[in-house]
Amino acid sequence: MMPCELYPTRCAICGTEGNAAELYPAGFNMDALSPAVFSARRMPDRIHFRMVRCNRCGLVRSDPIAPPQILNHLYAQSTFEYGEEADNLKRSYGRYLKKLEKYSLRKGALLEIGCGNGFFLEEALRQKYGSITGVEPSVDAANRAGANIRPWIVCDIMRPGLFPENRFDTICMFQVLDHIPDPRLLLDECMRVLRPGGLVLCINHNIDAVSAKILGERSPVVDIEHTYLYSPKTLPRLFSAAGFTVLETEPAWNTYSPLYLARLLPMPGPIKNGLLRLLRTWPFRSMRVTVPLGNICLIAGKSERNHAGVT
Ligand SMILES: [Zn+2]
Repeated sequence: MMPCELYPTRCAICGTEGNAAELYPAGFNMDALSPAVFSARRMPDRIHFRMVRCNRCGLVRSDPIAPPQILNHLYAQSTFEYGEEADNLKRSYGRYLKKLEKYSLRKGALLEIGCGNGFFLEEALRQKYGSITGVEPSVDAANRAGANIRPWIVCDIMRPGLFPENRFDTICMFQVLDHIPDPRLLLDECMRVLRPGGLVLCINHNIDAVSAKILGERSPVVDIEHTYLYSPKTLPRLFSAAGFTVLETEPAWNTYSPLYLARLLPMPGPIKNGLLRLLRTWPFRSMRVTVPLGNICLIAGKSERNHAGVT
């Protein structure tokens, strides 16, 4: 148990505190503040902070939450459990990285925030990016990276001053922004380290997706790790508020194994365990499905006018 006081959060778009309607009351106790709960890809367990929707701009956030320094500590101690899904994630995110080519951006320096074991950085190298850098708070995850990737992973949270300004051509974030206690601070830092004309590729959950609406509080996206949850309306508003030019927002299609999808289903334990056992057998094991399952993809750019030093 990690004793700490919860503190109120502000809407990351309009900056108001309070002024929000409760979506779900808190469903956790202090024991939930453990590294195991904050580890990647664990089974959803319906533990979450109180969730509210801002009355002014519609952004969904957890309120109140544990202090960021406690959350950062939990992520640093968390372990890495993507297992066999890493290949599917690499396929999914690799497809979106390819989409950036239509903007004729040079394949220069790429930064991934929350890179886990670096599977996507491998894909960026395969797509001929000039250099790769990953930021990952979990020591366990970073140490699982391949020998050719590990030297390019900075074991830290993405914090102000970690990199020099105008350092990167491309910044990628996959299922990261919804975990960040202060997303405006993160996007301000992205703006600073991104070169003018550079692009951000961001994929995360969609709280307004049909699946999230049907499942409500039982949806796996309603989770203690998610300090914010975005929609096709609020995600571009957040990027615009941080000074980015939003180029595209669309549902993201991800490739999954049936086993992974079944893990997310809310159903009684014994039935679920039986289903998981079945899906571990052939031919289900080798199956792949690509579906638009409750994720949004956003591409945003830093305009040439945002060049640091130009006012
Ligand atoms: Zn708001």
